[in-house]
Amino acid sequence: MFGHSEKLLELRDRVRHFVESEAIPRERIELAHDVQALDRVAHVLREKAKTAGIYAPQLPVELGGLGLSWRDRAVVLEEAGRSFLGPIAMNCAPPDQPNMINLIQQGSPQQRTKYLEPLIRGDIRSCFAMTEPAPGAGSDPSMLKTTAQRRPGGWVIDGHKWFISGAVDAAFAIVLAQTAEGATTFIVDADNPGYRVVRNIPSIDGFQIGGHGEIELHDCEVTDDAVLGEVGQGLAYAQLRLEPARLSHCMRFIGRASRAMGIAQEYVKTRFSFGKPLADLQQIQAMVADSHIDLHACRLMTWHAAAKMDAGESVKHESAMTKVFVSEAVGRVADRAAQMMGALGMSEDTPVSLILRELRPFRIYDGASELHRATLARRILKSSLRP
Ligand SMILES: Cc1cc2nc3c(=O)[nH]c(=O)nc-3n(C[C@H](O)[C@H](O)[C@H](O)COP(=O)(O)OP(=O)(O)OC[C@H]3O[C@@H](n4cnc5c(N)ncnc54)[C@H](O)[C@@H]3O)c2cc1C
Repeated sequence: MFGHSEKLLELRDRVRHFVESEAIPRERIELAHDVQALDRVAHVLREKAKTAGIYAPQLPVELGGLGLSWRDRAVVLEEAGRSFLGPIAMNCAPPDQPNMINLIQQGSPQQRTKYLEPLIRGDIRSCFAMTEPAPGAGSDPSMLKTTAQRRPGGWVIDGHKWFISGAVDAAFAIVLAQTAEGATTFIVDADNPGYRVVRNIPSIDGFQIGGHGEIELHDCEVTDDAVLGEVGQGLAYAQLRLEPARLSHCMRFIGRASRAMGIAQEYVKTRFSFGKPLADLQQIQAMVADSHIDLHACRLMTWHAAAKMDAGESVKHESAMTKVFVSEAVGRVADRAAQMMGALGMSEDTPVSLILRELRPFRIYDGASELHRATLARRILKSSLRP
């Protein structure tokens, strides 16, 4: 079912080589929270990724991508995801990656020329602004408080967004706002006088391209051309991007967690305690085995959902189960890796603690685990789905 072709394995090896020789050597800790420095490195790496023929694996060939199926993408994104910088270099990192999906599916020809093409080239960056501080939209998007009022020839948007990944120095934002006809997505240029990134919110994770911005929209005037897709369809479009976005996150983070465990495995082979290597201790061995079990299950669930995506089948149920399991399992793996390495695992002298920190929020964004469990259980108990 998951047969990987020779061509795919050759591509995987090229991505692996790129990640090991170009991306990982540039992972300086100073970059973790320096958005501008990260952008500079991204620019250098993207040119190298284009030359290496591994750029934009998720995009169709006619848009400059590699045209990979979901199943093949799972292998390539895992490999890219071993480095904090791999997906950024290959332009398959969020939020630009799911924003490209929205622009491909809902963008007008003019919007595709103005926003999608430079986004694909890596000339500009973008963000997706849905979440709001209380009492606005969080887990429940229907609590949307940002409004868009019709004016002759356009709209005026007012609202407050936060935790918007990629917002700092993004060229535009896809903003979800409430209209009389329902939630609607608007493309707002960052140089619009009514749009302001107030701050980059310091957060647990690092290496987030464009940080996580807090945004104010005040008397933000946009023309009718700014509407992305149809008025009133914003929540449906947000859902459309979420399933592929979640699965892509799973793919990249399996790579990140497996890298952390690989580093920890090397550590326990060479670090001695009470006269023998840590690797000889059964409690350490259990952590290694449990992590491999977790990663194997993560891969199988992700690959299965990917195969269903390729077959054009709905993955509503599987993508939610996969997201819950993978987000928790990769966290367990990174946590064990840090534990196995003692104080070194708590330090920034190795990437392990940063990987642990980066994986933690995945249990919250793209739908918190609790929310997915609640939805899954409701669907299961209402239907005839057998355990
Ligand atoms: C690193 C990071 C990046 C992000 N990037 C973006 C972005 O680019 N764009 C964007 O729009 N947003 C982004 N977000 C925001 C993210 O989408 C929200 O954090 C998420 O939707 C949850 O909303 P909230 O934080 O308001 O939590 P709340 O809605 O306040 O929920 C808090 C907690 O309550 C529990 N809970 C909530 N609802 C239920 C329920 N029905 N049943 C059981 N328990 C429940 C969950 O444990 C949840 O974690 C990002 C968040 C993080 C952490």
